[in-house]
Amino acid sequence: MNKSPIFSHQLNLQEDYPCPVCRVGKISTMPLMEAMCCDFCQEIFTINLESQEIKMPSRQPPLIWRWNGWKWNQAQIEGVELGWGYILAAIVFVLFPTSLIGIGAYYFPPHPHVPLSWIPYIWTLLTFLSHLGIIIWILIEIYQIPIRAYWRAIIQYRN
Ligand SMILES: [Zn+2]
Repeated sequence: MNKSPIFSHQLNLQEDYPCPVCRVGKISTMPLMEAMCCDFCQEIFTINLESQEIKMPSRQPPLIWRWNGWKWNQAQIEGVELGWGYILAAIVFVLFPTSLIGIGAYYFPPHPHVPLSWIPYIWTLLTFLSHLGIIIWILIEIYQIPIRAYWRAIIQYRN
């Protein structure tokens, strides 16, 4: 098996590839099937050699990765383009409420001697964290990041 990084190679059924989902395991062809399975997260992929793509059918719509000869390209959701519009919307979703509350706390600060005068600042921070958390959760849902598999790996590693 030629592992030299100098020569890029095509996606084929004979070699192992890094798992694009967990990035820990290796995916290899399952016997008698045009499918690959990860030895770590157990995710199953169908192979399309013509377009050099693998598809993860266990979620709908499926995620697709294209092999570029070196590594997998960023996952695409079948039929969906995650463009800059979505990224911008996510940034606005996190920053807009946070800055509203932050500006309020900055321009109308409670008198420092009032009890609980620190609440607006904590509130600003909580707003930021909770909105960021929602975005992270959505990303985990979209890309099916195998948190359980990572968790297992961490526990195995520590034992
Ligand atoms: Zn995997």
